[in-house]
Amino acid sequence: MSKEEQQNKNVVPEFPSAVEQGKNLTELIGKFVDQALEGDMELLVDEFEKNRRFCICQACPYYHRASKRCKKCGCFLPPKVKIKVSECPIKKW
Ligand code: SF4
Repeated sequence: MSKEEQQNKNVVPEFPSAVEQGKNLTELIGKFVDQALEGDMELLVDEFEKNRRFCICQACPYYHRASKRCKKCGCFLPPKVKIKVSECPIKKW
C-alpha cells in the first residue's frame, strides 16, 4: 500500500458496522413511511435533484466508487439519493 493510500485509509474509515448500517437503513425507511402516512406522496426527488446529490457524493471522500456506497452511513447511493426524505449524514446535501 502506498503512503497516499495509507493516509487516505487513515482519513476515511471503513464502512460502519452492520448494526450501525441497519440502524441507518431503519431510520431512513421510517422517515419514508412517515412521509407517506402523512399523505405526502411526492416520495422521490426529481431528476435534477437526484443528479445534484449523486454528483456531490461522487466528489466526497466517503464515496466508495466500486460499490456506489457511502462509507459514512453504509447506504447504497443510487437509491438513497432519489428518496426525498433521505439526508447526507454530514449534511453535504
Ligand atoms: S451521502 Fe454524504 S457523506 Fe455519503 S458519500 Fe454522499 S456526500 Fe459523502
